[in-house]
Amino acid sequence: MPVSNDYSIRLEQSLKEIVEHYGTPFHLYDEKGIRETGNTLIEAFEGVEFFREYFAVKALPNPAVMKLMQSMGFGFDCSSVAELALSRQIGARGEEIMFTSNNTSPKEFATAAADGGCVLNLDDISLIDKVPEMPELICFRYNPGERRTGNSIIGNPVESKYGVSHDQLLDAYRQAKARGAKRFGLHTMLASNELNHAYMVETARMLLERVEWISAELDIAFDFINIGGGLGIPYRLGEKPLDIVSMGREIGKLFQLFKTQHGYMPKLYVESGRYMTGPHGVLVTSAINRKEIYRTYVGVDSCMSSLMRPGMYGAYHHISVLGKTGEDETVDVVGSLCENNDKFAIQRALPQVEDGDLLYIHDTGAHGHSMGFNYNGKPRPKELLLREDGSVEMIRREESLNDLFATLTFEQNIFKPAG
Ligand SMILES: *Cc1c(COP(=O)(O)O)cnc(C)c1O
Repeated sequence: MPVSNDYSIRLEQSLKEIVEHYGTPFHLYDEKGIRETGNTLIEAFEGVEFFREYFAVKALPNPAVMKLMQSMGFGFDCSSVAELALSRQIGARGEEIMFTSNNTSPKEFATAAADGGCVLNLDDISLIDKVPEMPELICFRYNPGERRTGNSIIGNPVESKYGVSHDQLLDAYRQAKARGAKRFGLHTMLASNELNHAYMVETARMLLERVEWISAELDIAFDFINIGGGLGIPYRLGEKPLDIVSMGREIGKLFQLFKTQHGYMPKLYVESGRYMTGPHGVLVTSAINRKEIYRTYVGVDSCMSSLMRPGMYGAYHHISVLGKTGEDETVDVVGSLCENNDKFAIQRALPQVEDGDLLYIHDTGAHGHSMGFNYNGKPRPKELLLREDGSVEMIRREESLNDLFATLTFEQNIFKPAG
């Protein structure tokens, strides 16, 4: 299922009123669903001694949502200066933040170390000497290359720009230790939107095996392993959800075995974005133009500035029309950008849509608003949060023209190189 029945029932009950109050378009996120998913994740990993989700901030970088994560005991996975700043803005500090950057700049290193630091996750062996001050706790992102196949979305590890290669791994920890690191973590991120739990179990197994190997070679113990994000959600009707319970149970067994053999259990970290918030958001938009040429087009009042996954990756997002069911006609649902990939759905069977109908596009709670861009000067929409008591909070306003023009210099600003 795309959004849960429970959410669609609560949503449909009050959507008309919410639209009358706020106007379309907007993303609407569901606190109740996010909390339920958070609890499911926590319960699934009760078999390991210490489990923590680091919410991947890029999926939904909004303080109101991040505070929900914080209240469940989660940390934050950041990969940019802005994401670090946002996490600290809501009070996250030190080991509550994981910094998984790649192609890291000096400015990013400086920000990572400021304000109580964070868990630094280095993407390359060459970065060890570039860390201004080696922290006590250090992690490396591991790229197993041909030892694993990625999945179709993220691609083959051999072609991926991320991580330390297998042959560099021992040296990476050796060098970090020589520079003063005392505690260690090991991270990888190999799959995206993975629905097969066995794949994630294999990832945990692989990291534990590497930990055994590195520990034996270098006489170090590991504080944690981090199996990354990439837990999948069913975007299509009828798709089977990820079996998180089996995933947790099987990974728990691997950790128990590790403890039997080595006398301790590292912590287990994941950094999910999509799994936590994806199904708990919808993009609500109004049909404003119906057009019949060679195909039928339903034009809506939002575009790729609100959601670019369909245009960028051909991603499927389910679409509902409020108060209508059935599959009366096959249409393209389109935005207003001067780009022909500005389509939310291509040749989709929908009920007959008229101007003024409300559409909601499912599963926009992750990599939705945050990926939106301002081509054609289209503003990004507001974000609303449906609270557990049924009230609706505006957690981000719509962008204005002033926002879009804020970086323009209307006065002359000239530099003439002496040459
Ligand atoms: C994007 C990303 C995530 C989150 O991915 P999801 O598919 O949203 O779970 C986690 N970790 C890293 C390093 C990422 O780049």
